[in-house]
Amino acid sequence: MLFFWIRRCVGDDELSHIRVECTIPKDDGSLASFVGFRVQHDNARGPMKGGIRYHPEVEPDEVNALAQLMTWKTAVANIPYGGAKGGIGCNPSDLSISELERLTRVFTQKIHDLIGVHTDVPAPDMGTGPQTMAWILDEYSKFHGYSPAVVTGKPIDLGGSLGRDAATGRGVLFATEALLNDHGQSIAGQKVVVQGFGNVGSWAAQLISQRGGIVVGVSDITGAIKNSKGLDVASLVKHVAGNRGVKGFSGGDEIHPDSILTEDCDILIPAALGGVINKENAREIKAKFIIEAANHPTDPEADEILAKKGVIVLPDIYSNSGGVTVSYFEWVQNIQGFMWDEEKVKAELKTYMNRGFKDVKEMCKTHNCDLRMGAFSLGVNRVARATLLRGWEA
Ligand code: GLU
Repeated sequence: MLFFWIRRCVGDDELSHIRVECTIPKDDGSLASFVGFRVQHDNARGPMKGGIRYHPEVEPDEVNALAQLMTWKTAVANIPYGGAKGGIGCNPSDLSISELERLTRVFTQKIHDLIGVHTDVPAPDMGTGPQTMAWILDEYSKFHGYSPAVVTGKPIDLGGSLGRDAATGRGVLFATEALLNDHGQSIAGQKVVVQGFGNVGSWAAQLISQRGGIVVGVSDITGAIKNSKGLDVASLVKHVAGNRGVKGFSGGDEIHPDSILTEDCDILIPAALGGVINKENAREIKAKFIIEAANHPTDPEADEILAKKGVIVLPDIYSNSGGVTVSYFEWVQNIQGFMWDEEKVKAELKTYMNRGFKDVKEMCKTHNCDLRMGAFSLGVNRVARATLLRGWEA
């Protein structure tokens, strides 16, 4: 069996866990302070990579755990990066656009020396998006000159990649197809529940329904809806754009948000926060397959319960790697000063997702383990090999 002993082999001077206080004037003239973090976990395989999250639950342990997941995720995807993560403890929906811009610029002023094209490359995560990346790029450029490859997930006009916006959701589609294919099945006709209808969940739902999957339930922070005949996902997306949430959508019945994970379906896609599948609800889950579009949505106790029930869990560090994979394509395009067309982005993403699945399965076969253990073993092994090759291990 493989060892999870991988020692922190990188000199502390190269990596940081930084905590910064960001004070901004609010629109009403008062001052507000927010705490921001950037955790750089590992750079054995290349520059550190990972999103910046704006959410009230951003705190050091969580950012640390998410930074580690990025190290294993980039290794599983076999892209030349390490792992990092950042965030600011705030509720972005309580802040105006100009307050968000000021906050992002102040945060960037405090971390600009830590990030860089070949050191640490941020990207969007929950509560952030292309506009946030544009502000980071602009602020960073004031100190270091214009360098679009310092962040990914940028607006297309500033060097963003075609297909980046949908990339995590499209990666979830390809991951689901790879898993079903391995079980001699296809997406058409499968009943799917998507918990979380932000960027990842909404793209996954749209792409899966375009392939003939029947999306029978979705939820977000405003509520949950179901329709056992299938929701019209395209109309739901329009409803969400106009109403800031799924609540009130007329094409389905409202249900209690807590029950979305235990609705009757074949495939469950948690696409929101971590820890939502736990010992309280794992026994009630009806799905045969869980595709982890969120980061660590299933806690270890739930994993055991699900394994006993025969539920197959496709782990986050593989399932949601489509976003960071297209971030890599964006970085490559920026460095080359060349833009790919969207079809190339989609085709390359499919190649990476299929190869990732094959590599994870290979590990599972070699070590007779489940998909999560297979994916972690693959990631840890790749990082360990790079670490040893660089001569960092005593
Ligand atoms: N925030 C995304 C993730 O958790 C994307 C990271 C990136 O593109 O660097 O994978």
